[in-house]
Amino acid sequence: MNNIECKENFEMKNLTSFKIGGCVNKIFFPKSQAEFLTLIKNIESPIILGNCSNIIVSSHGCSRPIICTSKMNNIEIRGTKIIAECGVRGPLLSQKAHESKLSGFEFMIGFPGSIGGNLFMNAGAHNQSISDTLTTACLYDREKDEIVYLTNKDMEFGYRHSILQTGRYIALSAEFDLKRENPEVIKGLMDRNLEFRKNIQPPLTYPNAGSVFKNPENDSAGRLLDKAGVKDFNFSRVAVWQKHANFIINKGEATSEDVLELMLLMQRKVKSTYTIELTPEIRFIGDMNKHEEEICQELYKKIQK
Ligand SMILES: Cc1cc2nc3c(=O)[nH]c(=O)nc-3n(C[C@H](O)[C@H](O)[C@H](O)COP(=O)(O)OP(=O)(O)OC[C@H]3O[C@@H](n4cnc5c(N)ncnc54)[C@H](O)[C@@H]3O)c2cc1C
Repeated sequence: MNNIECKENFEMKNLTSFKIGGCVNKIFFPKSQAEFLTLIKNIESPIILGNCSNIIVSSHGCSRPIICTSKMNNIEIRGTKIIAECGVRGPLLSQKAHESKLSGFEFMIGFPGSIGGNLFMNAGAHNQSISDTLTTACLYDREKDEIVYLTNKDMEFGYRHSILQTGRYIALSAEFDLKRENPEVIKGLMDRNLEFRKNIQPPLTYPNAGSVFKNPENDSAGRLLDKAGVKDFNFSRVAVWQKHANFIINKGEATSEDVLELMLLMQRKVKSTYTIELTPEIRFIGDMNKHEEEICQELYKKIQK
């Protein structure tokens, strides 16, 4: 344990794409699966994070220890198979697949999630998702206290859902099977995806955590939010992004409370206009104050841990 990188009293806003998050007593950065397993087995109830691009970390900090996988970056390519450790970033993997003339990861070029986070969320965009190519996920099973291998079917993938959300498993690495393709075709798709984002979504210079709400069945959260008029919500520290109503940006010194308050306003506006209750996609992590707890009860219907 002593050799594993650990930072104490670490300001989480230095890691999160939202640039929000208070102090965590201890955060660990394992560099290998062996180090990761040592931590998982020896630390009590750690929170596992990847690239922190889909979370709000409480401005009041987090008393549970955090393990961040961002330094577990091993990638192996064998024929059409790619095996990636959980901390590998999607955009890097997308580029590696392109270099190897493999298609299936073009969607990952445009957003910052790690493979572990992408599996947890079944991340997707532009008609592709991580579940399309996953063959086997190598996971740590907290109940059995052992490594297990789950097939694509076992992963119970759905829209922004996988079995990892039960909390029983932690992703260690994953194997994917991609399709051979002309690299120019692959590059064309990657460029098109980047261009699409550039025109609509906020760049990370406007700190954000991607889509705030999930799409309801057969509709788009962005469309409903836009029609309900939430683009008028522009406060001193947080605002709805003008080109896409399903994004919140941190204008500088925003707190987790600012974001939660705005999310609740957005959710209520859509509910009162369309009687549709949007479900947040962004997850809340850390120690809530009383007001945040009340907001989260309404927003998430249960408190996120
Ligand atoms: C600008 C921008 C654009 C985005 N666009 C998209 C998009 O088009 N499509 C999309 O799907 N998402 C998008 N996102 C959201 C985000 O990038 C994805 O949800 C991504 O999958 C999160 O990965 P992460 O590594 O950042 O996860 P984190 O934010 O670190 O964690 C998210 C959740 O995953 C869990 N987790 C992380 N690693 C592991 C692990 N190894 N084992 C078990 N659980 C784990 C965490 O506990 C947490 O609950 C976007 C975000 C931004 C900022």
